[in-house]
Amino acid sequence: MNNPPRQEPEPGPDRLPEPGPRQDPDAPRDLVGIGIGPCNLSLAALAHPLDGLDAVFYEQRPSFDWHPGLLIDGATLQVPFLADLVTLIDPTSHWSFLNYLRTRERLFPFYFSEHFHIQRAEYDAYCRWVSRGLPALRYRHQVDAVRWNPERALFEIDFTQLDAHGEAEALGRTHARNVVLGIGTAPHVPDPLRPLADDPRVPVVHAADYLDHRAALLAAEHITVVGSGQSGAEIFLDLLRHRPAGREKLHWIGRTQAFAPMEYSKLGLEHFTPDYTRYFHALAEPVRDQLVSAQWQLHKGIDAATLAAIHGELYRRSMDGGWPDAVLTPGVRVRTAGRLATTKVELHLEHLQQGTRSRLTTGAVVLATGYRERPLGRLLAGLDPYMRRDNRERPRVDEEFRLVLDPSVTGSVFVQNAEQHTHGVGAPDLGLTAWRGASILNSVTGAEPYPLPARTAFTTFGLGEQRHRVPHARQARQLVPLIPLTEGR
Ligand SMILES: Cc1cc2nc3c(=O)[nH]c(=O)nc-3n(C[C@H](O)[C@H](O)[C@H](O)COP(=O)(O)OP(=O)(O)OC[C@H]3O[C@@H](n4cnc5c(N)ncnc54)[C@H](O)[C@@H]3O)c2cc1C
Repeated sequence: MNNPPRQEPEPGPDRLPEPGPRQDPDAPRDLVGIGIGPCNLSLAALAHPLDGLDAVFYEQRPSFDWHPGLLIDGATLQVPFLADLVTLIDPTSHWSFLNYLRTRERLFPFYFSEHFHIQRAEYDAYCRWVSRGLPALRYRHQVDAVRWNPERALFEIDFTQLDAHGEAEALGRTHARNVVLGIGTAPHVPDPLRPLADDPRVPVVHAADYLDHRAALLAAEHITVVGSGQSGAEIFLDLLRHRPAGREKLHWIGRTQAFAPMEYSKLGLEHFTPDYTRYFHALAEPVRDQLVSAQWQLHKGIDAATLAAIHGELYRRSMDGGWPDAVLTPGVRVRTAGRLATTKVELHLEHLQQGTRSRLTTGAVVLATGYRERPLGRLLAGLDPYMRRDNRERPRVDEEFRLVLDPSVTGSVFVQNAEQHTHGVGAPDLGLTAWRGASILNSVTGAEPYPLPARTAFTTFGLGEQRHRVPHARQARQLVPLIPLTEGR
């Protein structure tokens, strides 16, 4: 199976009219966004129709590109298409996925396809259509630093303009009353594997770069996939489908006790609601920390369809009576790794339950070892004296996604997808993206351009006073008292 060619969105009719030039190009912006992944793209789409809001968004890449190394043919979103950039907040928005389909005259085929979970490549194409239509986006702009200027009561944002090769072309500075960071996550390589990943002579690649290296990986005599999350499963399946039956020579190992399914029950999904996010934010810091790791199966498991496809592919290959030459072992960690000559890698493995150790010689390794939030420290070094931190030195983030800064700082820095420690497992979830963006815009404008739903879950999280209503910035909260529980039920 080959990946289909990228669907390049046409400019032209999709592009809404640009506003006229700013009267004073040096005037401070109301809002500067840093990074254009789905989170800030959603915010930019929701900000677009707000008259009088002067916002600009900077992105270091040349154009929108959503995890290009993992747009594997057939891989779908783990959320329904309704979790597009705007629909859960404003289904009438020009920038909805359904409107994207309408502009392509594909609504009828989509309707008959009955696909609630669209392909990842189609989500990427939709986002690129949105990104081409929004005039406030500036690509090839790498933001280097954010500082607070107390005299002007504004944030200073320094950026480097990059040329077509990614080299610095010019330096610039802009000023803003508010900043929103949407710098996302970066591929994570565990320490024992870092020397291998840094050595260009051996075929060891992070999952984020999988498609770029797929041909080289498939050329290896034996391939090992490390990591038992969704990416590891998708890559194992893709490699399996491309290896000859009976000569697969594949290993798939991961640290989790099992190749575990992602929690996808209806009430389980209510952990990805604004109601749960608010409940989580109000918990004590140690409880929040304990919860995030305990809830790994809500976001780190493998979706059931991928597990079924893997089993189906293995079963198909066993129908002639043999077993596929594929080893799938959970509960295994890589202790150390080294290179053998120029073409082989040796992994030193440990089984976590048995306490046994062994060595695995392989020709290529895919590190499906996940992503970590990009650290804010480098960008925000200039704000360090103003920043309020928790017991583990992480930035404190208020309920409305604002970094808690010294009260002398009158502007706000918001974060998107850097607040798992304060807002819970929903932080990276696309289903909460539009809601969080709307909440930020309500705060920035001090009005309520996007009224937010008062209640979003059937589950009532916690006892006592339950907050169902989400007020916009600095409005009094409406508390809805729960009916007291009768003892002994
Ligand atoms: C393969 C994959 C599939 C996923 N699928 C789903 C899914 O189906 N459902 C779901 O809910 N979640 C999914 N996620 C999780 C999550 O939604 C995505 O990771 C999403 O891309 C997060 O968006 P983001 O805007 O926070 O960050 P990113 O998409 O990582 O974008 C951040 C952007 O900021 C830019 N940037 C960083 N620093 C700077 C700087 N200093 N100056 C300028 N630009 C900068 C980066 O270049 C990047 O383009 C998936 C994640 C992965 C890795």
